[in-house]
Amino acid sequence: MLIDLKKYFSGENLSQPIDYTVDMSGVEMDGVYPFVSPVHVQGELRAFASSAELQVTVRYTFSMPCNRCLAETKKEFVHSISHVLVNKLNEEEDFDDYIVVEGDQLDLDELIYSDVLLLTPSKYVCREDCKGLCPICGKNLNEGDCTCGKQQTDSRLEALRQLLQ
Ligand SMILES: [Zn+2]
Ligand SMILES: [Zn+2]
Repeated sequence: MLIDLKKYFSGENLSQPIDYTVDMSGVEMDGVYPFVSPVHVQGELRAFASSAELQVTVRYTFSMPCNRCLAETKKEFVHSISHVLVNKLNEEEDFDDYIVVEGDQLDLDELIYSDVLLLTPSKYVCREDCKGLCPICGKNLNEGDCTCGKQQTDSRLEALRQLLQ
């Protein structure tokens, strides 16, 4: 979605609601396409001292294999995003706080894309206490213990002992 910010930049006092979806289903992460639902973007754009202030909430369902046990795990994410959009920077302004929009045209999809990718954790687990897979036999330890658990602990301790010598 392209938004013309010319009127905002010229100092007019206006605002507009934002309520639409961005399709991120083509984004690949670690060999999977985790954005299984469209990203719902809801909020407002309003004039703010010859610039535009964007305040939106993004909601989406994200589906990835658990980082420990590989079980397909779906999560709902909700993030608040806000930016001040300007057409040029004054010397004293901190670049990080502002987004310079070239040619008065804001590509909102592109902005939402990069924000959502930054806000989405790159590693995630099905639950905080996920026990993961046994590195020896591959059994999902959430479903019960395997017999190699004991030896695994021993060999780790042995490796540690050798490191400490
Ligand atoms: Zn897990
Ligand atoms: Zn095992």
